[in-house]
Amino acid sequence: MTDLTNANPAAVLALLDAAERLAEVEAERDALAEEVADMVPRDWHGLMTILADVYPETAFPTLPDHEARDAGPRIVSLLRRVDALAAKIERVRAMHRERPYADPELRAVAPSLPAFVCQHCWGQADAAVPHPCPTIRALDGTETDHG
Ligand SMILES: [Zn+2]
Repeated sequence: MTDLTNANPAAVLALLDAAERLAEVEAERDALAEEVADMVPRDWHGLMTILADVYPETAFPTLPDHEARDAGPRIVSLLRRVDALAAKIERVRAMHRERPYADPELRAVAPSLPAFVCQHCWGQADAAVPHPCPTIRALDGTETDHG
């Protein structure tokens, strides 16, 4: 620790004042950092919530993409379109969910039967389409030309 016995009292007071102000600034900085951290979206839904609050549809409408549009509103518009597409994909995935088909005992005597089939595709063709079905494989990017 520094010996301040012979120090100029005015300089010591100025140092103490500066240290107090530094502590206040650091506390302010920490509070702001916490506030900013709370504002940063943790996931896609959080991002879309902030987007709706900060860039409302009424001020930043979702429009067909056009290169001449300002970058900010264009990005907001594109994010909304991506969000809508993601919701569509989730609805398709929910339709094409797997459902149990052949239990292990049945598969023991008929090994070609799938354990799971597609809920939707089965209803369409009245046939046991193994899960993941071609639709899900296409969404996953694993579909081949030959199914
Ligand atoms: Zn399907």
